[in-house]
Amino acid sequence: MLCCKFLTDRMLGTLTKYLRFMGYDTLSADIVVPGNSREDTVLLKIAEGEGRILLTRDRELAERGEDIGAVHIKSDDIFSQLRQIIGEGLISGDLKVRMERCTICNSLLRPAHPEEIEGADYAPSGRGNLKFCWCPRCRRLYWSGTHLTNLEKKIKEGLSCRM
Ligand SMILES: [Zn+2]
Repeated sequence: MLCCKFLTDRMLGTLTKYLRFMGYDTLSADIVVPGNSREDTVLLKIAEGEGRILLTRDRELAERGEDIGAVHIKSDDIFSQLRQIIGEGLISGDLKVRMERCTICNSLLRPAHPEEIEGADYAPSGRGNLKFCWCPRCRRLYWSGTHLTNLEKKIKEGLSCRM
């Protein structure tokens, strides 16, 4: 279902987070050491090597990556960006928030162990039916709940009200 993998440039931080929230495998240019004068070339190589679609605000970079399917993101507005990549068939229009990937590092989350939940002082106290996941790389706890449904609502409303 989530067939596309992405690589995003440094201008697309919010889009990167949103794609990860929706479960898309999304690497960010922040894995490249800052100040590398050949960053564009490095990004094109990673995109090609890993079969990732390069999303960039830089028209020139998108043109250089035309052969490997790089996409020039036209707007700075997050909802216009989402609308563009839905329009190009790169992500599904259902915009479901999935809690499958770490929004910080892109790692796949796994179910949290009880001691990991206990050890996170930022975990909600009323645990009820919440589902807890863990990022093994960041050692960060994620949980289901209204913040995720609210985010999904915000994305959907943002898209529909600016059509
Ligand atoms: Zn992480």
